[in-house]
Amino acid sequence: MPTPTLFRPLLVPSANATSHRFIHVVGTKVFVDDRAADDAWESHFLGMHGDVACWGIDVPAGEDPGYGAETDLRVLFGRVDETEWAVAGRAVQLVEWARTHRFCGRCGERTRLADNERAFVCPSCGLMAFPRLAPAIITLVTRGEGDDEEALLARGANFGVPMYSCLAGFVEPGENLEQAVAREVEEEVGVVVDSVTYVASQPWPFPHSLMLGFRARWVSGELVLDATEIADANWYRRDETPMIPPSISIARRLIDDWILHRV
Ligand SMILES: [Zn+2]
Repeated sequence: MPTPTLFRPLLVPSANATSHRFIHVVGTKVFVDDRAADDAWESHFLGMHGDVACWGIDVPAGEDPGYGAETDLRVLFGRVDETEWAVAGRAVQLVEWARTHRFCGRCGERTRLADNERAFVCPSCGLMAFPRLAPAIITLVTRGEGDDEEALLARGANFGVPMYSCLAGFVEPGENLEQAVAREVEEEVGVVVDSVTYVASQPWPFPHSLMLGFRARWVSGELVLDATEIADANWYRRDETPMIPPSISIARRLIDDWILHRV
């Protein structure tokens, strides 16, 4: 299998950049082109994808360089490779961050970009604003052993399709990731877990999360669902899983790892 080309987040393009890619951010949708539609529009350097310099372009309201061809990130999910999708998500997140941090949140002065790091700084009071990133945990809980081992899969109250997935939620200020896993599982389905083990992570630009994927083991408790978040949840053996998320998502990876005994 070919090694995927790495993306490196950077502040300025490398000297060896051979070409440019412009990710036009129209609202929160993207239109990708190898030319900048308008040099006057605000641009944010994103980083290098191999030797391609990638830029996020803030398309002003009412303008549309793609003539309607721009794509929502959720629709793009699965249509391009994981790295291209992450770069498109980075473009939307940095453009949205710039749009919403033009003024200081403490004193109201107009901010400016810091010289040597990705931040807005207030020239009056010195407050710095960095790109927002909200960590969220996602967990596959299992119980039992061998062929009788079961995984806990849940259908979110806001899922548009009858799909079952892992449990997820945002990390609260003041708790570590293992505590966040245990708290979310107990809040959403009422069971107690331990043996929380990190598996993998995935950028999740809705609107600015980082998904941290875990496995955990059931310790005690019957399923008692938080109806505001969970429409249904059950224990499933490997040979009886319901409809699960698409393959690009970290939830699917956690479930596949379990089904195929990879973790
Ligand atoms: Zn200020």
